[in-house]
Amino acid sequence: MARGGLPSAAIMGREPGIGTSDVLEVDPPTFSEAEAAEVAERVFGVSGSAAALASERDQNFLIDDGAGGRGVMKISNSAEDAAILDMETEAALHLKRADPELPVAMPRPVPGSDPTGGAGAYRTTVEGPNGSGSHHVRMFDHMPGTPSVSALELDHDALWDLGAVVARLGRALRGFFHPRAGRVLLWDIQHAAGLRPLAAAIEDPRRRAIVERVLDRFEEQVLPLWPQLRAQVIHGDASLDNMLTDERRRVSGIVDFGDMSHTALACDISSVWASVLGERSGEEFFRAAAALLDGYQTVTPLEEVELSVISDLLATRAAAAVSISAVRVARYPGNDYIASFEDEAWPVLELYAELGPEEASRRLGGRTWSRPVPIDGLMERRREGLGSALTAPSYEQPLHLVAGKGVWMFDPEGRRYLDAYNNVPVAGHCNPRVTEALVRQARSLNTNMRYLHEAVIELAERLVDSMPAGSGLDMVMMVNSGSEANDLAWRLARTATQNAGAIVSDYAYHGISAVMADLSPEEWATRRPGYVETFPPPDSYRGAPERLEHAAELAHAAGQLADRGIAPAAVFVDGAFTSDGIFRPSPAYMRDLVARVREAGALYVADEVQVGHGRTGEHLWSFAAAGIVPDVVTIGKPMGNGYPVAAIITRSEIVDRLAGETSFFSTFGGNPPAAVAALAVLDAIRDQELVGRAASIGEELRRRIEELAERHVAIGDVRGWGLLIGVELVVDRESRSPDPELADRVVNAMRDRGVLIGRTGRHENVLKVRPPLVFGPEHVDLLVRALDDALGAATASAR
Ligand code: PMP
Repeated sequence: MARGGLPSAAIMGREPGIGTSDVLEVDPPTFSEAEAAEVAERVFGVSGSAAALASERDQNFLIDDGAGGRGVMKISNSAEDAAILDMETEAALHLKRADPELPVAMPRPVPGSDPTGGAGAYRTTVEGPNGSGSHHVRMFDHMPGTPSVSALELDHDALWDLGAVVARLGRALRGFFHPRAGRVLLWDIQHAAGLRPLAAAIEDPRRRAIVERVLDRFEEQVLPLWPQLRAQVIHGDASLDNMLTDERRRVSGIVDFGDMSHTALACDISSVWASVLGERSGEEFFRAAAALLDGYQTVTPLEEVELSVISDLLATRAAAAVSISAVRVARYPGNDYIASFEDEAWPVLELYAELGPEEASRRLGGRTWSRPVPIDGLMERRREGLGSALTAPSYEQPLHLVAGKGVWMFDPEGRRYLDAYNNVPVAGHCNPRVTEALVRQARSLNTNMRYLHEAVIELAERLVDSMPAGSGLDMVMMVNSGSEANDLAWRLARTATQNAGAIVSDYAYHGISAVMADLSPEEWATRRPGYVETFPPPDSYRGAPERLEHAAELAHAAGQLADRGIAPAAVFVDGAFTSDGIFRPSPAYMRDLVARVREAGALYVADEVQVGHGRTGEHLWSFAAAGIVPDVVTIGKPMGNGYPVAAIITRSEIVDRLAGETSFFSTFGGNPPAAVAALAVLDAIRDQELVGRAASIGEELRRRIEELAERHVAIGDVRGWGLLIGVELVVDRESRSPDPELADRVVNAMRDRGVLIGRTGRHENVLKVRPPLVFGPEHVDLLVRALDDALGAATASAR
């Protein structure tokens, strides 16, 4: 019944001494059913009728005792290698231990043999009729279900299930080893080069050319990747033909391990695909392929390199089928099996030829954005699809990025850019601690906070623990973005104070919600919302020294509001005044500021969205450096290293006031992936000692940029706090008048030199250097050299 007993027996013994001769060259045994029944009774003690089952190189009989007892007796070709049969037996025994629920047809020990004697106890030899020689004989459990169903009988769910079974088979064989698994089978795609002489037997020249192109592509594109593919002993013919199914077409039995070898794990997908897809056309082909692959990946997610070759593995598998068949059909013209095999394979090959390998790969392997395929017209499509309000891409020459790692980002050509701009990937781009936690959680559960889940509770406890001792900041609320966190803080402040006004710094940014846009002067066109007042940041470059110690302007802003009959509910402060131009406030200033906020009857909201998670190099949270205690802390951006997650931390009595009026629920807020990502980020910051690193590397970077100021007079001021550094560019140092044009040229010149920074401040003349905290000394060197060069070039181009 199984293909394994068919042309797949194309064994080219790597160790010719072991097999007596090639099983393909020796005729199958010729036991009659009566003779088989006699063997079953004499050797295995199973008496009953014997009915021949299909096989090509061997003979298989269903033995039925008429009372519900059944077995399948396999009489092997006299040329069969006992060591190969033992490998099959040991694999079955291994599978039983690794995944007992897998419905694998198990061999039965020969009665009277020593069951501790290993695989040898599961076979014996019988003499064949007509002097056909001596044959190994084994008895297998009879598996329930229907053999050889048409692939079209499998609906989406059945295909999914089949894919999962194939993956389980591979997974259960992971730990299996047998020396004979190194044998060379033509069916094993890694040996596809050996198909060339067989392909020459394909008569139709057009079809022969298709197969040759597949083999060419395999050798050029796939074989070089072979050493990277996960390899192990696999079933080798995990096709529908080797599965029995129940009435719902779920797999009820797996038979025939005759094609096992040590090869790429992903070959199992090509076997099952090849057995199912040939009967489908058009969209059905791809839907079925996806269903199998999705099922497979519920058990074993494929790696990028595997996904990149699976369509070629399928084509090569089909090429193997038609090539082997071309030779075998000629030799055994009456064998329908071999002929039917071609019926499955040609449609696959025709489609592959029609689509071309790249398109086939995209359709079958899925879109992998990290594969470097340059795409034309992205700018236009972005504008058309995403609209005119979306902020323009950075840089005159926008960057098209496809991958990130640590402090690096990569474009489709593989060019790398040193990221000295993004604070979101705080623990480095694609930090494995975070990505693996996320992916594992996304695979197991992603739901909302109406159910109990440990992760978000642990996260809340961790965040509360991270607050200063005795601060009373004892409660966490989970949302999805910095804007939402600030918006929620605003609602809390409104209910807690019953006031209606807000105070923010002159050029603050706090988010995109309607209220946060009101509280973000950076985004104001002309309109100043009536309930919002502003105060100037503690500007260490242009401000008077006393203004760096006292926040008298806060009282002034509150007074302005009071003149309009409004009392402030909240004062929102980004701890490093990032959008105001990056200033490091003195502890005295911060203490005075908070005192004045309280005096005005408002809550103090520490917006740590930008500066939290260790950026300032002193504490996890910037406010802690001043020893102040905010009423509400908002966090976001780096919180999930890029996964959207944000939160507020506040005091329970403030939450209780809101709870008195309403309840709070955010669909995605604090969902398990968000929570595990946030926990992984906290772990990474702790384990990679990123806070200390931000301090030392930040200090080094600031010092090195200050040295540049000796040569570049356009540098008016270098200031920073941990790994948040502002470099203020001015027309001249006397007037200190801002030079945004120069800053723009420098930022672009840096980009052209492969280093990414940005601009900030009201005049956008402050270079914003804000790298992932995994920045190292070698990156400082690269950045400083590029900045030196870029400043030189940008200054020269102005003259
Ligand atoms: N607050 C500050 C200080 C920010 O920098 C930002 C984002 N730039 C936000 C709030 C808003 O965060 P989000 O973009 O996640 O809504």
